[in-house]
Amino acid sequence: MKKIKKLAVANRGEVAVRIIQACHELNIKTVLLHSEVDVGTVAYRLSDETFCIGRAPTAESYLNIAANVQGAKSAGVDAVHPGFGFLSENADFADACVKAGLIFVGPSAESIRLLGDKISAKKIISEAGVPFVPGYMGENQEVEHLIAEAKKIGFPVIVKAAAGGGGRGMKVLKNEADAAELIPSAKREALSAFGSEIVFLEKYLDHAKHIEFQIFGDYKGKCVHLFERECTVQRRHQKIIEEAQSVLLSESLRSQMSKAAVALAEKAKYQGAGTVEFLVQDEKFYFLEMNTRLQVEHPVTELLLGIDLVKAQILNAAEDFVLWKQSDLVPRGHAIEARIYAENPFENGIPSTGKLGQQYFAAAPGRRFEIGFEAGDTITPFYDSMIAKVIVWDESRPRAIQKLLRTLEESFVFGVHVNFEYLKAILTHPEFLSGQMTTQFISKYFPDGLAPRELSPDERAFADLSLKALGSQHRGPQNTTNPWNINWRSV
Ligand code: ADP
Repeated sequence: MKKIKKLAVANRGEVAVRIIQACHELNIKTVLLHSEVDVGTVAYRLSDETFCIGRAPTAESYLNIAANVQGAKSAGVDAVHPGFGFLSENADFADACVKAGLIFVGPSAESIRLLGDKISAKKIISEAGVPFVPGYMGENQEVEHLIAEAKKIGFPVIVKAAAGGGGRGMKVLKNEADAAELIPSAKREALSAFGSEIVFLEKYLDHAKHIEFQIFGDYKGKCVHLFERECTVQRRHQKIIEEAQSVLLSESLRSQMSKAAVALAEKAKYQGAGTVEFLVQDEKFYFLEMNTRLQVEHPVTELLLGIDLVKAQILNAAEDFVLWKQSDLVPRGHAIEARIYAENPFENGIPSTGKLGQQYFAAAPGRRFEIGFEAGDTITPFYDSMIAKVIVWDESRPRAIQKLLRTLEESFVFGVHVNFEYLKAILTHPEFLSGQMTTQFISKYFPDGLAPRELSPDERAFADLSLKALGSQHRGPQNTTNPWNINWRSV
């Protein structure tokens, strides 16, 4: 057993809050490693200690390995939790933590290296006999050669960065002209975003579902799966709504996919929480990638199974963890998560920044909120615009959808635009309700966000009153009384 008395959180926003709360419940003190601008946040107020690691741009703070390790060391912590995004899948960071005598809450640097790079992950998954999307993963990275390979695969083809993530650096090539134009630009983007211009090609599956398996490996080398999440509703390859379980997945596929996920994790001697992502099309599944960290959508699995993945991660890192027996992991009911983005759905999701006004998330049984910011905090343009998550559980999918809709209906956020209306439109769409949506869902039905709508007289009156009560002054060009169209600033 290793003692963790104090832990550094190398992250921000709602996930930092999630980790801090888990630590507090485990009687572990926390130190938030934050950037200069992130002082007006829930995590900053909640953490026992805080340590500024640099300026707002991510390269100078959240992505700076030396600054994070130094901050953790000078705060005297035993362990570091990287959350998701930023340095969470960076093997050099895991190494640097261990070299500095710190426990890295996550898999070994070796596992991250093996699985984090999509090309090497594919090698080991093919050794495990798991199917993946046909494509080209070769070493010849000449553009001419890649175009020829794309033709061989047959259009449409998707080009991806080997070191990519978060839906970035991916482009769909519909024909040879696209290939000639977009392969070089994908390489350039990959170099600037991920530090490597290596790309690979895959056949583009045009009516697939995204289904991923949560797995967990303990420090003794045992591994279980925690069933699947369906994350098919995506915009520009980024998830918006996630649910568990997947409504149309057959038992036979579920069983094959969970076995494949565990086989891969065991082969990589994987420790801690990880996710094996697949695409499913025409009753066949294809390996996409493995994420060697906690996922944004982990709460749906937690609600489905009644477990706590973050505490499990920390306890496992401390070698003080008893892994769940596979037979004890029994899914119950249905859980759905909606990502709350500070953006304007009526202007095609343009990010919205500024001071947050009053917000209210309507609590009731089976509703969970992960909130990173409160009234008076500032949503800055430096980071991802996800500011919160709403997760609900109910006994069946239709009831869970109904609960999520109702929760969004009863909740509000002022000051910045949020995507509530967009989420509601998705949740009431017949294709979503039927469970038959594919990853094309958003581009098919909501290619440009939502068309503006009129407020009801009640909403208008409420918005007027709220603004008056807040003493705020509208400075934007839009309709003053529409709370979703106001760039609110306190006077
Ligand atoms: P990232 O690591 O950037 O999240 P992934 O490889 O996990 O990238 O893919 C993200 C999403 O992009 C998938 O869920 C899917 O919607 C789409 N995608 C990726 N590869 C393919 C493919 N071969 N065919 C169709 N869609 C794909």
